Amino acid sequence: SRADRRQLPWLTYVPELEQAARRRHRLEHDLADAHNGDGLSLLYQPKIDLAMDSVVSFEALMRWEHPELGPVSPGEFIPVAETTGAIVNLGEWALHEALAATARWRAATGECYPVAVNVSARQFEALTARGHTLTQAVRTALEHTGTPPGCLEVEITETAIMHNLEDALDELHALRDLGVSIAIDDFGTGYSSLAYLRRLPVSTVKVDRALVDGIASDPGMRGLFEAILAVSRGFGLQTVAEGIETAEDAALLHELGCPVGQGFLYHRPLPEAEACALITPASSHRARPSEERSERS
Ligand code: C2E
Ligand code: MG
Ligand code: MG
Ligand code: MG
Repeated sequence: SRADRRQLPWLTYVPELEQAARRRHRLEHDLADAHNGDGLSLLYQPKIDLAMDSVVSFEALMRWEHPELGPVSPGEFIPVAETTGAIVNLGEWALHEALAATARWRAATGECYPVAVNVSARQFEALTARGHTLTQAVRTALEHTGTPPGCLEVEITETAIMHNLEDALDELHALRDLGVSIAIDDFGTGYSSLAYLRRLPVSTVKVDRALVDGIASDPGMRGLFEAILAVSRGFGLQTVAEGIETAEDAALLHELGCPVGQGFLYHRPLPEAEACALITPASSHRARPSEERSERS
């Protein structure tokens, strides 16, 4: 991988480094033009109620098809967009597009399934630096698409929050006051202590795939997950397990009382129409089983 090569003596790999630098430069340049949606799309990965085995909401994940380089993964282009500042426009595009998709799902099915949109650290900071706020961008997108705030969730990593905690707290409170819910993404991978969850106006903790994958065969990981689950519950937060790939892991997470999960075992990120086809009428499952579930144990 590129990261591996960077750790080797650079003299040995000048051509490759040059190539990597050229590619990066190219992406930086071309991302500046992608903000109107050219080549960008969103896929939607379902979140699953583990007790009911039913879809409860979706997470929007960005894709970029470069005209010559082909598909570029978000793991590559999001960091580039963060350094150039293009992330601000990309992020606004994603907000509008995801909310427009929920509006189309509502029109097609009569159901309001929430959608989660990822917001990155630099996006947060760049908006503030330009005298804008995330909350303004969210309000505009909600108004333009006629979406109720309760249909939107914002996913933000703990690193993004901890980087500038006081500004982030103001922003998160404003978002929550608007009626939007907030999830901490990739939980368990940063430097945070469990105690700081108490200070954050969030409703959900998304436990990172690194703490979920293989949990059924690792007692240590199981204990760690149980601890996070207990703390989340104590603070009244919902827990989502990310990256569930095996039936064994899913069964254990359900047994531990984890209410919601997401992963390739259930669905990969899907095009809008395929996501829409998974939406079922409220009467068939909307009894808030996750809350019943967390009261058991
Ligand atoms: P994330 O928000 O933590 O999203 C979860 C990532 O894990 C997604 O990768 C998803 O496809 C992948 N995933 C889901 N289930 C499984 C599984 O069972 N196994 C494995 N191996 N992977 C699974 P993706 O789509 O490549 O996105 C990577 C990251 O890029 C996201 O992590 C998020 O941080 C960022 N990203 C994606 N879209 C956006 C966006 O619109 N805005 C911002 N700011 N960041 C985005
Ligand atoms: Mg996410
Ligand atoms: Mg995540
Ligand atoms: Mg991630």
